[in-house]
Amino acid sequence: MIKYDYPLFRPPAEAENIILQVTLGCSYNNCSFCSMYKTKKYQEKSLEEIYRDIDILGRTYPSAHKFFLADGDALAMPTDTLCAILKYLNQTFPKLRRVSTYASAQNLLEKSTQDLELLAEHKLNLIYYGIETGSEIVLKKITKGVSQTEIIESLNKVPKGMKISATVILGLGGAKYSIEHIQGTANIVNKTRINYLSTLQIGLEEDAKENFYKHFSDFTFISDEELLKEQRSFLEQLNPKNKIIFRSNHASNALHLAGTLPKDKNKLIRELDIAMSIGSDALIPSAFRSF
Ligand code: SF4
Repeated sequence: MIKYDYPLFRPPAEAENIILQVTLGCSYNNCSFCSMYKTKKYQEKSLEEIYRDIDILGRTYPSAHKFFLADGDALAMPTDTLCAILKYLNQTFPKLRRVSTYASAQNLLEKSTQDLELLAEHKLNLIYYGIETGSEIVLKKITKGVSQTEIIESLNKVPKGMKISATVILGLGGAKYSIEHIQGTANIVNKTRINYLSTLQIGLEEDAKENFYKHFSDFTFISDEELLKEQRSFLEQLNPKNKIIFRSNHASNALHLAGTLPKDKNKLIRELDIAMSIGSDALIPSAFRSF
């Protein structure tokens, strides 16, 4: 078996697929709410190590067809290195259908359109992208390192052959910036071409709290009822250019929703209205949720 460097994260949708760890940590590692890779220093594994892992996986799972490249933003790797990895995967796994990875705005902005097209041609066909918020003030307070304009620009660079699965964090603006948070985030979705969209609910790990409040001293958590109102307002403001598979089924969510936008927008809003009229009995108890 191959050896992974822990902690190791992957999107829930990749649970059935094989993780190939090509980098360690996150090349940015500075978002104030995130402690995922705080114990790791960003590093790129050598091609020699990666090929060795692929060889082992090839002998163990010769029919594998979907791979996730870990850790936090494998797209930070140089394009020629990523292309070499993808070529080797294509060669080793004749049934290979899709490779995916986490990607940040910074990663996408650093690559040329031609680079991204080349990666998609080599079957890097899905990126997981954390929008988190579109509010300029909240982006600064969470030290995301990019503006709303840069997020839109980065998402609009993604070629057609590469799907985008994006996440948004409800409650991230706290009580004070809730309106800006939702307006700015809906604006990003409406101006880009996202294929899958999920909403999570804010939660803070113990080891992230100090840094988070240092930059966001006026943050206060909003209640479940206010989170549902944010969700409703977000859905109301969405007028996407393309079809979006929408999910609110992360372990952090108080209410699970699923539909296709824009077709199911009114249905989802009705489901929220029903839940809000019932109150806490309609929600998943907080003890069963995690960020
Ligand atoms: S949220 Fe993503 S980009 Fe930000 S520090 Fe965490 S892993 Fe890195």
